[in-house]
Amino acid sequence: MKEKINKAFAERFNSKGTLYVAPGRFNLIGEHTDYNGGFVFPGAIDKLMMAEILPNGTDKVRVYSIDLNDYAEFGLNEADAPEQSWARYIFGVCREILKRGGKVEGFDAVFAGNVPLGAGLSSSAALESCFANALNDLFNNNSIDKFELARIGQSTEHNYCGVNCGIMDQFASVFGKKDHLMRLDCRSMEFEYFPFKPVGHKLVLLDSVVKHELADSPYNKRRQSCERVAKRLGIETLRDATMEMLDAIKTDITAEDYFRAKFVIEEKDRVLAVCDALVAGDYDTVGRCMYETHKGLSKDYEVSCEELDYLNDIAKECGVTGSRIMGGGFGGCTVNLVKDELYDNFITTAKKKFKERYGHEPKVYPVIVSDGARKFENQ
Ligand code: ADP
Ligand code: MG
Repeated sequence: MKEKINKAFAERFNSKGTLYVAPGRFNLIGEHTDYNGGFVFPGAIDKLMMAEILPNGTDKVRVYSIDLNDYAEFGLNEADAPEQSWARYIFGVCREILKRGGKVEGFDAVFAGNVPLGAGLSSSAALESCFANALNDLFNNNSIDKFELARIGQSTEHNYCGVNCGIMDQFASVFGKKDHLMRLDCRSMEFEYFPFKPVGHKLVLLDSVVKHELADSPYNKRRQSCERVAKRLGIETLRDATMEMLDAIKTDITAEDYFRAKFVIEEKDRVLAVCDALVAGDYDTVGRCMYETHKGLSKDYEVSCEELDYLNDIAKECGVTGSRIMGGGFGGCTVNLVKDELYDNFITTAKKKFKERYGHEPKVYPVIVSDGARKFENQ
C-alpha cells in the first residue's frame, strides 16, 4: 500500500509528503448500548486507511483516491463542499477543525485503504481519523486532544455525510491500542483499556454480504422502546435499570418493550462480565457471553436475520468459542472467537454451508487488534 501511495503521490504532485494511517474497528460486545448510556467494547483492527499528505501553500485541497480512482479539489470554506461523497469525509474533517478554531491550510493528498467498505468495520471512521490526526500533526502541533479528534470525525458524519452515528467508531479508530480493547462508558465518556491477547484463539469476522433495509426504520423503533421504558421507570436511560425494576413494571408495558429493555439491561451486565473474564484470561466465559448477546439480539431485540442466525448456528456446530452479530443488525458481519485448531474447519464449513443455502460465500476477515490513528512508522 505504501509503495502504491508513494508512487501515485510522486506522479501527481511531483514531491513527497508524510504518511499517516488509521484503522477500522470491531466491537467484541456491547451492542445497542450506546444510546442507552451503557458500555461498548471496541478495538482497532489491522485493516487501515493510509494517506500521504503535504501542505501545498495554497488555500486548496487536492486529493486523489486510489481505490476509487477519483480526484477532488476543493477550498476550505463552507460553500466549497465537494460533490463526491468520499471527498466530503475529508472536507468535513477540515471544516470541523476550522470550526473549533484549529488551523487547516491547503494540502495535497493521496490515500488508499483495505478496510472493506460498508461491511460494518467503519471504513468511514478510518478515513476521518486518518485525516483528523494528520491535520492535527501538520497544522496544529498536535494541540487538539484525541477525544476531540474523534468528535471531529463524528461531527463530520453528522454535518457533511448525513449519518447520525454515535462516537464509538471514531473513538476506537483514534484510541486503538495493540492487544487491547477499550471499554467506553457512553454516559460519562470515560474509558479503560483491557488487555486482549486471546492466546490459542483467532478472531474472525464473517460478512454475510446481505443488508436487509426495512422501510420503517427499526433502529428508531428500538430507541423509542428503550426511551418509553426508561421514562416509565423514571430514569434517564436504561443504564440505571435492573431486571428487578423491569420485572416490577412488566404488566404495565407491552411485551415488545419488555423484551427490548431486557436485552439492553442484560447486555450492559454482559460487557462488565466480559471485562472481568478477560482480566482472568477466561475466554470460555467471553465466548459464552458472545453467544448470549447473539441470542438476545435475535430473540429479544429482534435485529437479526436468517443469514446471521445461520452463521451463528454453524459456529456453534463447529465448536467455536464465541459468535455473535456485530453492529446494528439485519445483515453485515458476525464476530467469532475460535480456537486455533478449529479455525480451518470452521471457515471451510461456514463457506460451504452458507453457499449451499444462500448462493454465495460469506467474506472472511481475520482480525488482529492493533494501534489507532498515527503517523506511519516507516516513512
Ligand atoms: P462503513 O461501515 O465501512 O463505515 P460507510 O458507508 O459509513 O461504511 O462508509 C463508506 C464510505 O467511506 C464510502 O462510500 C466512501 O465514501 C468512503 N470510503 C471508505 N473507504 C474508502 C476508500 N478506501 N477510498 C475512498 N473512500 C472510502
Ligand atoms: Mg461508516
